[in-house]
Amino acid sequence: MKILRRKKKPRVLIVGANFGGLSAAKALPGSFRATVLDPWPYFEFLPNIHELVSRIKPPRDLRLSKRKIVEAAGHRFVQDRAATWRPEEKCVRTESGLEIPYDYAVCAVGGVSNFFNTPGAREIAFNFKSVENCHAIGKTLAAHMRSGKPCSLVIVGGGIEGVEALGEALRRYGDKPGIAVHLVEGRDRVLAFGPPGLHDAVVGGCRTMPAFFHMGTSVKRVAKNAVELSNGETITADMTIWTGGVKPLADLASWGLANESGQWAPVNEFLQSPMHPDIFVAGDSAGLKTPLGKQAYHAMDMGVCAAQNIIRLSKGGSPRKFKPSPKPTLVAFGALDAFLVADSITLAGPALSFAKEAVYQNAMHRFDPGWKPARAAHTAARLTRAGFNKTLSYALSPKDLIRLGNFRVIR
Ligand SMILES: Cc1cc2nc3c(=O)[nH]c(=O)nc-3n(C[C@H](O)[C@H](O)[C@H](O)COP(=O)(O)OP(=O)(O)OC[C@H]3O[C@@H](n4cnc5c(N)ncnc54)[C@H](O)[C@@H]3O)c2cc1C
Repeated sequence: MKILRRKKKPRVLIVGANFGGLSAAKALPGSFRATVLDPWPYFEFLPNIHELVSRIKPPRDLRLSKRKIVEAAGHRFVQDRAATWRPEEKCVRTESGLEIPYDYAVCAVGGVSNFFNTPGAREIAFNFKSVENCHAIGKTLAAHMRSGKPCSLVIVGGGIEGVEALGEALRRYGDKPGIAVHLVEGRDRVLAFGPPGLHDAVVGGCRTMPAFFHMGTSVKRVAKNAVELSNGETITADMTIWTGGVKPLADLASWGLANESGQWAPVNEFLQSPMHPDIFVAGDSAGLKTPLGKQAYHAMDMGVCAAQNIIRLSKGGSPRKFKPSPKPTLVAFGALDAFLVADSITLAGPALSFAKEAVYQNAMHRFDPGWKPARAAHTAARLTRAGFNKTLSYALSPKDLIRLGNFRVIR
């Protein structure tokens, strides 16, 4: 008699469920038994959280349920944190003591804010890394402004996040009496990843605004009502926002995925950990041989590539190389301007902020787990709210409306 044995589904564990991890989960078919692990219940669209500073978007428009996304893809979501990883035994233990064995794993845990060991930064400054952080900034700033007292806001960091935070603060409060917004950057220009003209465009755009740039100096200490700079200057600070970029989680080293603390998890061209080829690393936590910008679109592409390579390996095939797609970087600067930085050209013009809005709307629509009509309704609601709030902001400021026609090439 012939006994039919059902083939066991390969077990995949995905640790970390935002851009990288969820893209991997969505790309894995039901023929895999995938478990997705993350302590935080919401997918968060981080590239647009600056809009919480001006409150032009509500927090709910930047979040989706991770459990629903994972379950809609036919997999299991466990709301818990990976505590210990034993790669030799192919097993992860969670904070609550759950042991999760796997055949293949994807590590997509992102990074953590880098405070550069600056005294007071972690304890006093507002972090800029989640919807919760930026919602708190928006609420606190609004309360300060309502109090009628002068408000000195210090933004540390002149990268994309710092410039976007500055733009939103000026969008909402730039014409209000008593506000001063200071931006501190260690390099001699903001948005240093692009051409030098970007710095001039940002500073020039603030000519008539209460914005002050402190370039080429770092922060020595963040105190309750002041920020001390290494050039000896002290800035009064009713609020300080920290946008110092990301650094690797210390866990990567303790899990055996990085050689030392402070290192991103090294990967080969297939996104496999060289130490443990059954573990793929996707998103910000991956340390590629040729470093890539820590960007959401790369994280999503890496998640899909990791999942496809797991499918190939499980069928006895060979993995394919990860090829980063050359997408331009979009930087919004409130109602003042927006920038599109591509390899060959950099464009400026406030209307480019609609391109950033379109990227956001499209990504939220794609991640939304609802059935088709529900997804369409959610997208329509997000579009209506964004359209209403932005139209209102332009209606209240005709100068901003006129600026929409202003396009330039930046060098
Ligand atoms: C303010 C801001 C603005 C940005 N703007 C842009 C932009 O304009 N364009 C762009 O492309 N990119 C932008 N980025 C970068 C982009 O958001 C990141 O590149 C992207 O989030 C990386 O995705 P990820 O999945 O690798 O990591 P993350 O999105 O950081 O997700 C990591 C996940 O891992 C989970 N996790 C962490 N530790 C554990 C653990 N031990 N166990 C289980 N789960 C864990 C976390 O809870 C989180 O859900 C911005 C980022 C910020 C903060």
